[in-house]
Amino acid sequence: MIETSVAVVGGGASGLSAAMYLAKADVETLTFDNDKSVLHKAYIKNYPGKVEPLTGITLRDEARSLCDQYNAKIVSEAVEQLTTQDSKFLIITSENSYLSDYVILATGQNPLKFLDIDVDKVDGAQPFVKTNLPVSAQGETSVPNLFAAGVVAGHPSQAIVAAGDGARVAVHVISRIKGEYWVDHDVLPKE
Ligand SMILES: Cc1cc2nc3c(=O)[nH]c(=O)nc-3n(C[C@H](O)[C@H](O)[C@H](O)COP(=O)(O)OP(=O)(O)OC[C@H]3O[C@@H](n4cnc5c(N)ncnc54)[C@H](O)[C@@H]3O)c2cc1C
Repeated sequence: MIETSVAVVGGGASGLSAAMYLAKADVETLTFDNDKSVLHKAYIKNYPGKVEPLTGITLRDEARSLCDQYNAKIVSEAVEQLTTQDSKFLIITSENSYLSDYVILATGQNPLKFLDIDVDKVDGAQPFVKTNLPVSAQGETSVPNLFAAGVVAGHPSQAIVAAGDGARVAVHVISRIKGEYWVDHDVLPKE
């Protein structure tokens, strides 16, 4: 059994953003992804900071490169079951079993059939999304330490919104783990 502090389920716009922030804060994190992001279909002309249009997959690959820089580990395995074991989360993939203290669900509009936990659900707010997970201001679902970010959490389906939400939720998870409000600011060196 492999153990980690945080498991991120989904490596699209929100999951990769969360993974990068967690790894940059030195929080042990595994991000599971089965390569079904809607970024495969997107041609993005509305991402502040990106002046030229870019494909969703270019954006995804740039986010993965940033994850690599901070040693955020991406595991290319589908999560087949997510349940609880004692006070932890048990993640069963096609290849292995993992235990984590926290989970961030960043699964976009993909089915939640793997979710074997009694968590509150509502009909999707977005026209093409079947189910959303209601979350608190910190991104926590009705189950303690189980968070959700991006489209699955009911937020508007834009890449910048999903990436921002992944970062936002990660900051709250990091703050909880470290026991103090986490601030990720890099400062321009003095001349
Ligand atoms: C046709 C189309 C065009 C779009 N165009 C634009 C645009 O121009 N501009 C814009 O801003 N946005 C656009 N979007 C929307 C944008 O791509 C999404 O809002 C954004 O990708 C959502 O991020 P997310 O992280 O919530 O979900 P996703 O990016 O879809 O990521 C979810 C990830 O979870 C993974 N996953 C799910 N279940 C499992 C599991 N059981 N195990 C492992 N991994 C799992 C998937 O493989 C996927 O990688 C477009 C979307 C579509 C469909």
